[in-house]
Amino acid sequence: MNSADTEIVKSLLRKEHNLVESPDEADLVFLNTCSVRDNAERKIHERIIHLRQYRRNRKNMFVGILGCMAERLRERLVGERDMVRLVVGPDEYRKLPELIEEAARENKSGIAVELSTVETYEDIEPLRTDGISAFISIMRGCNNFCSYCVVPYTRGRERSRTAQTVIDETARLVAQGFREISLLGQNVNSYKSSDGFDFPELLVRLAENHPEIRFRFTTSHPKDFGEKLIDAMASHANICKHLHLPVQSGSSRLLELMNRRYTAEQYIAKIDLLRSKIPNIALSTDIIAGYPGETEDDHRATLELMKTVKYDGAFMFKYSPREGTKSYKIGDTVSDEEKIRRLNEIIDLQQNIAFEKNQLEIGKIHSVMVENVSRRSEADWKGRTDTNKKVVFPVPADMAIAEGDVFNVKILSAGSTTLKGEMCD
Ligand code: SAH
Ligand code: SF4
Repeated sequence: MNSADTEIVKSLLRKEHNLVESPDEADLVFLNTCSVRDNAERKIHERIIHLRQYRRNRKNMFVGILGCMAERLRERLVGERDMVRLVVGPDEYRKLPELIEEAARENKSGIAVELSTVETYEDIEPLRTDGISAFISIMRGCNNFCSYCVVPYTRGRERSRTAQTVIDETARLVAQGFREISLLGQNVNSYKSSDGFDFPELLVRLAENHPEIRFRFTTSHPKDFGEKLIDAMASHANICKHLHLPVQSGSSRLLELMNRRYTAEQYIAKIDLLRSKIPNIALSTDIIAGYPGETEDDHRATLELMKTVKYDGAFMFKYSPREGTKSYKIGDTVSDEEKIRRLNEIIDLQQNIAFEKNQLEIGKIHSVMVENVSRRSEADWKGRTDTNKKVVFPVPADMAIAEGDVFNVKILSAGSTTLKGEMCD
């Protein structure tokens, strides 16, 4: 989401400003920030300290903080380390040219952190610079108020772009040569446009307009993930067979405390329905270890759910208390040591499950879209299956190959995160 927002900011600034690649050359450096966990914020404070060194050559250089931290910390950020002079929240990027102008001219600071109920930036064409894969934000904000999560406070209420602007932007991206499009929203299932589309309808329209383009989306909330979306995925070959469906915990008691509005049993029933219609679907998830009040039994329930579902991948976090959220008031009841132990158990189990699942890929042929040369060897290229698995395979030196090309690749071996294979007909 932040990468997509950065492309919007670049687009808004490029007319009046020169965008440079390195802080060495910059008079102003923007950091687009995330507040979802404490360590994401800590990295930004460290980065501000790190940026001071560039002052040696450019005495007037300063920093602007964009995104969720700007929204959460507001004036508390202004002046940090004598570096921060602009603080601009996620719905105020249109003001940036004016704020920069004032800050530079009058040597003062600027802050803009109003949240909007309507801003979607749908008329701004993001400045995308590389690759064959493009993000399109189809909605902004979140109304779900999961008890642990700061996003509804930092990104405001849910609002959807009109389907027509998404359909038009997709057509332009295809004409520019993009081969894969990822639709983004905090909860794409809540997408509802003023021109009458829900999310499955939008996805089907895009997939049918561009049968040669791969479509992905993230994130789906399990409480309103349903049959209409499953049927859309099942009936269109170019809607990728991968679903990210964050479960957070395998304990229904905890899920209720988290305000997720589904039980572990309901979640598993949705997975069963999904697999009955799309047997080879790859699944990934998010899991939080050590939520306030989590007992050893709750933790075990999470491990059991992981064994039942067998995810292909997972983002796993220890609980991080966020000021202003409902669970912040309960307090951080699981010790850090215990959280780390539980998190490590979750990570170890997931690695074993992913490794075992990937062994089942050996001998199968996948259609792989090429992304770039492998970092380890010039002779190898890297790409992804439509189930979002990374595949590395050798390409003959005399063969012309480009990002976005699609090849059939037979899988020969597999680790927990990467498959290795060879090209075949
Ligand atoms: N809208 C998406 C997720 C956005 S945040 C969704 O609901 O799936 C991405 C992930 O960060 C969440 O799924 C959750 O697992 C994790 N997360 C959010 N707040 C957290 C917190 N306070 N501590 C630890 N992890 C958190
Ligand atoms: Fe946060 Fe829940 Fe909204 Fe996701 S759905 S952004 S976890 S409040």
